[in-house]
Amino acid sequence: MSKFLSDRFAELKAYVPGEQPGEMEYIKLNTNESPYPPPPGVIATANESEIKKLCLYPNPDGARLIKKLAGFYGVAPENVIIGNGSDELLAFAFLAFCDAWRNVAFPDITYGFYPVYAELYAIPFTLIPLKDDFSIDIADYCGIGKNIVIANPNAPTGIALPQRDIETILQANPEHVVLIDEAYVDFGAESAIDLTHKYENLLVVHTYSKSRSMAGARMSFAIGSAPLIEDMNKMKYSFNPYNVNRLTQVMSEAALDEDAYYTEKRSEIIATREYTKTRLRDMGFSMTDSKANFLFAKHPKIGGFELYTALKEKGILVRHWNKPRISDYLRITIGTREQMQVFIDAIVDIISI
Ligand code: PMP
Repeated sequence: MSKFLSDRFAELKAYVPGEQPGEMEYIKLNTNESPYPPPPGVIATANESEIKKLCLYPNPDGARLIKKLAGFYGVAPENVIIGNGSDELLAFAFLAFCDAWRNVAFPDITYGFYPVYAELYAIPFTLIPLKDDFSIDIADYCGIGKNIVIANPNAPTGIALPQRDIETILQANPEHVVLIDEAYVDFGAESAIDLTHKYENLLVVHTYSKSRSMAGARMSFAIGSAPLIEDMNKMKYSFNPYNVNRLTQVMSEAALDEDAYYTEKRSEIIATREYTKTRLRDMGFSMTDSKANFLFAKHPKIGGFELYTALKEKGILVRHWNKPRISDYLRITIGTREQMQVFIDAIVDIISI
């Protein structure tokens, strides 16, 4: 820390992303990326003529992409904003809707960035404990007089809430924003996007980083009532108007024509998840019912850190948190079938020692 850092950030604990090894010698099952490349139609758009246009700023309002996203999801363009990864849109939402008087609540076990944003912006926050089985009790979120952030499916548990539960929470908190982070929704959960037509307090955040195989392009969007999106844009235009670069905008448009590819890859990931789950269960692991592209698993005989370290020594990266309630668990991203076979074989080796 330099002597120049503002005192207000002296105690801030920044978010720690999953390891990103320089060389690809690891099987990377630690940051929930897709193991599949973007579809050929998306790759083709990053061509020489688009690259040459990098001397020009991107369109700050992303109008063409927003129009296409709006058509794809059955909303109007004024209901959509694009962002540089959903982390950025989450940052805009915390900044726009939360403050010392309008606090925010989220589960005690969830995406680790939520408390970081709250601390960054000095927003008091409430951690609502998940039940013992890591599920959310929606009664805990009804009429609490705070903004609410819920990842659905939740991370790192993968457990999803049905749309009717989200609706109950929305109805019980009409004076507060309910942000549903749907980073993993495409792997088997119900989206709340439809509900944005009905509830002015709902903001649904999506990313291209997971099911659309574009984590490196940093692309996300949020859907909500026109006034909420106007507020989000106020943050964007006060912070970084050119937040989504040119190549990402054209690639993201093309991605919306590639549903067949994405549907196929998503089905493969879901089938591989279920296969891996069965194999792990046979080896004594217990797991949550994950509807995401990862599993959250623990073994009765080996601690989470020990297993994480043993896998790393075998060239496999998974995610472990040394945190209360979850330190025995690993979050394992679903890779290709071949990668998961290497992972399963490694686990067999480790637990038979
Ligand atoms: N929300 C959740 C629940 C996540 O797990 C992640 C990925 N770390 C993000 C948001 C952010 O993803 P991105 O910024 O790549 O869109």
